Amino acid sequence: MKIFVVNAGSSSMKYQLIDMETEGVLAKGLCERIGVTGCITHKAADGRVYSADTAMPTHAEAFEAVVYAMTQSDAKVIDSLDEITAIGHRIVQGGDTYSESVKIDEDVMKVVDELSELAPLHNPANLLGIKACYKLFGDKTPQVAVFDTSFHQTMEATQYVYPIPYEYYDKYKIRRYGAHGTSHRYVCDELFNITGMKKEGSKVITCHLGNGCSITAIKDGKCFDTSMGFTPLDGFMMGTRSGAMDPSVLTYIANKDGLSADDISNILNKKSGVLGVSGVSNDNRDVAAAAEAGNERAKLATDMQRYQIIKFIGSYIAALGGIDAIVFTGGIGENDKDLRAAVMENLKFLGIECDAENNAKRGENIRVSTADSKVGVYVIPTNEELVIARDTLSLIK
Ligand code: ADP
Repeated sequence: MKIFVVNAGSSSMKYQLIDMETEGVLAKGLCERIGVTGCITHKAADGRVYSADTAMPTHAEAFEAVVYAMTQSDAKVIDSLDEITAIGHRIVQGGDTYSESVKIDEDVMKVVDELSELAPLHNPANLLGIKACYKLFGDKTPQVAVFDTSFHQTMEATQYVYPIPYEYYDKYKIRRYGAHGTSHRYVCDELFNITGMKKEGSKVITCHLGNGCSITAIKDGKCFDTSMGFTPLDGFMMGTRSGAMDPSVLTYIANKDGLSADDISNILNKKSGVLGVSGVSNDNRDVAAAAEAGNERAKLATDMQRYQIIKFIGSYIAALGGIDAIVFTGGIGENDKDLRAAVMENLKFLGIECDAENNAKRGENIRVSTADSKVGVYVIPTNEELVIARDTLSLIK
C-alpha cells in the first residue's frame, strides 16, 4: 500500500511517496516557485533524479508535474496513480477544532479555510494542495488532514490562555496553539519505543530546533506546555524570528520609526532572531563559522540562542516537577553537537553528563548523555512525513 504525503506551502510543495509495508520512502521531491515560474526536483529511492523547469501558475500544475515525475519520467516509481491508496496532508493550523487527524471532506475543508485567519501564510496553501489533489485523483482516493497543532490540544487553560483581557480569547480565540506538533509527537513516541519507558508518569522535554524552533513539555505522553503560541513567533529566538520579548519594545519602535503593525510583524518574523542579532545569516552553520572567525555579534547570537534554550528547558523541568528524558531533533537539534554539549553542561546539576563519542554521531536515534546519567538525553531525527502516512493509513482502514 502506498501513501502520498503532501506538504503544500504558498509557493512550494514538498511530497513523499511512502510504501507502508516497509515504511520506506519510494520517492520524494520538491516543487518550487509555484505561481512565479515553476520547477520540480524529484528523487527516487534508488538515486535516480528528475528535475525540470515547468510552468506552474497554480498548485494544480505543480501536482501534474509530480504525477509526470512519479509515473513517466526517468525517475518514475509507479505506473499509475491507481497505485496510490490515500493522500495525507500536513495542515498547519487545526485550531481547537481538531485534537486528532481527520479524513477530509467538505466540512473539514471549510474549517481549514476558516482557520486561515490564524495561519494566513499556511492554511490557504494547504487547502490549495487538497483541492489540487481532488482535481487529480477525484473522490475515490481518500485524503487525510494531519494538523501541526493537534498534539498540543491536551494543554490546559493555565498553559494556553494569554494574560490579556479574556474577551480576546472569547471573541477571537486568541490563545496558545503551538506548532511542530507532528514532530514532537513522533520523537516522543520514538523515545518510548527505543527506551521502553512507560508513558504513564513520564516527564519528557522535546526540542525541535530548526529554522523554526519550539520546545515542548510532555507529561504522561501528552503535551503539557509548548513554547510556540498563537503563532510560531512565540517562544525563544530562531533563525529569523524573535521569540517572546517585552511587547513594549514593539510600540516604542513603531512610534520612533513610524512603522505599521505589518512592518513590525515583518521585522519580528523575518529580520530578527539569529539573523537580526548576528547580521550574518539565519543559518546556524554560517553564524557558527563567523563566530569562530571572531565576529562578536555572531558569537553573541549563538550564546543568546543557547542561553534561551537552556532557560526554556529549565522552566519546563520546574513546570513538569522533574525530568526523565530530553530529546533533540530538527536541523540544529540533530546536527549541532556543540549546542547539545552546552545544554548538557548547564544541566550537570541534574546528574546529566555528555557522552562525547555518541554526541558526535549523526543521523540515528542515539543517547548522547552517558549511560549512568540520571536523565537520558537523546537525539532522534524527526520524521513528520511518516507520522502523516501512518495517521492516513489508520484513518482509511
Ligand atoms: P526547517 O525548520 O526549515 O525545516 P531544518 O530543520 O532543516 O529547518 O533546520 C535548519 C537549521 O539547521 C539551519 O539553521 C542549519 O544551520 C541547521 N543545521 C543543519 N546542519 C547543521 C550542522 N551540521 N550544524 C549546525 N547546524 C546545522
